[in-house]
Amino acid sequence: MTPAKLNKPVHVLKFGGTSVATPNLIRDAAQRIGQRRAAGCHVVCVVSAMGDTTDELNTLAQQLSSQPQRRELDVLLSAGEVQSMALLSIALTELGVPAISFTGQQGGIVTDDRHSEAKILRIDPDRVVEALHGDHVVVLAGFQGIDQHEEITTLGRGGSDTTAVAMAAALGAERCEILTDVPGVFTADPRLVPSAVQIEALSYDEMLEMANLGARVLHGRSVEIARRFNVPLVVASATEDRPGTRITGKGELMEEVVVRAVTDDRDVRKISILAVPDQPGIAARVFNVLGEFDINIRLIVQAQSHEGLNDITFIVPGSASLEESDLQRMVQEVGGESWLIDDDVALLNIVGEGISREPGIAGKIFSVLAEQEINIDLISSSNLVITCVVREKDLARGARSLHQALIETDTS
Ligand code: ADP
Ligand code: ASP
Ligand code: MG
Repeated sequence: MTPAKLNKPVHVLKFGGTSVATPNLIRDAAQRIGQRRAAGCHVVCVVSAMGDTTDELNTLAQQLSSQPQRRELDVLLSAGEVQSMALLSIALTELGVPAISFTGQQGGIVTDDRHSEAKILRIDPDRVVEALHGDHVVVLAGFQGIDQHEEITTLGRGGSDTTAVAMAAALGAERCEILTDVPGVFTADPRLVPSAVQIEALSYDEMLEMANLGARVLHGRSVEIARRFNVPLVVASATEDRPGTRITGKGELMEEVVVRAVTDDRDVRKISILAVPDQPGIAARVFNVLGEFDINIRLIVQAQSHEGLNDITFIVPGSASLEESDLQRMVQEVGGESWLIDDDVALLNIVGEGISREPGIAGKIFSVLAEQEINIDLISSSNLVITCVVREKDLARGARSLHQALIETDTS
């Protein structure tokens, strides 16, 4: 991607749903944008749908059908962002700031055709660049694009962050700011762990793990794009003028910590395929079936076989559309005996660059949970993360005690 040439630095500012939930908040956002432009930048704002609009639109569709067509759902949900982009542009113009709003299509966001989970293939930002040359603020609808047949697509829940970072990459922006209802990225979700503190700066890799493992403050794919194109990314408050959290390349980080954050995700389900023959190719068949449904698998566990049989367990997002008949088919295909679904599970993840170089860390995590009498259902670990699957009821207590032991008490 060759960034477009512009005469002033470009700042991309993304306003989340709560930050544009009312006309007053939209006016506040417009004021902030006007100030940024007055400081000598081109400004592109990416907006989410107002407040809970996306959920409300979804509910409307569900009232008419338990399985609305994904194409129509995308048309419907994209309307939320169209509403807020027009309102923000109206508010800017009212303040004397020249502005123009663009849908995903007008902004040149071209995606694949996977409705409700589309990936951005490329951006043709000609109209955006032209409007910036004309000294307008561009207000772009987040979360949406069009496929090769000009069908409207959406990028998955939380996808406006990805629109913002992708547009920042396409424009060679100086920075991309994700402005939201918290002042930055915290060491845990501040709603779950009140003693969580704001992180000043962290690496793309750490942020990517956090985002993919429940820290919904950023859409995981936005972090991937930021890392690939080296987009300087900041998460900050939409209402207060404070520095926020910088997400950057590892080399730019001064401090090195062992544990960066504890993240949680309760919106998951555990599926086990039981008594599968212990033969080559079986796991491949299970996951090929899952691949057909576009399901993102969070964690896979296959333990030591017993008497030629294995259980394969995996964690999928709660929203994964897997019917009982699909699981039945999977069991049949691999010659397994039966399957189990468990919705009463949650992920507790400990994330940090130092996890792999700190030998005692796993023991410490398990001791903390044992002291709390929290049973660990499954464990997985990688270079950057240790994940424990626990019961939902234990999630908050587990997150707070791990945060207390690993972050509030300095382990480095
Ligand atoms: P927006 O509508 O602005 O996109 P989101 O609701 O998607 O906002 O993301 C912001 C929310 O993310 C916060 O209100 C907070 O509860 C949650 N969150 C989860 N984990 C973290 C974390 N580690 N740091 C900050 N916020 C977090
Ligand atoms: N409005 C969409 C959602 O609620 C996209 C976003 O807010 O990023 O998921
Ligand atoms: Mg969000």
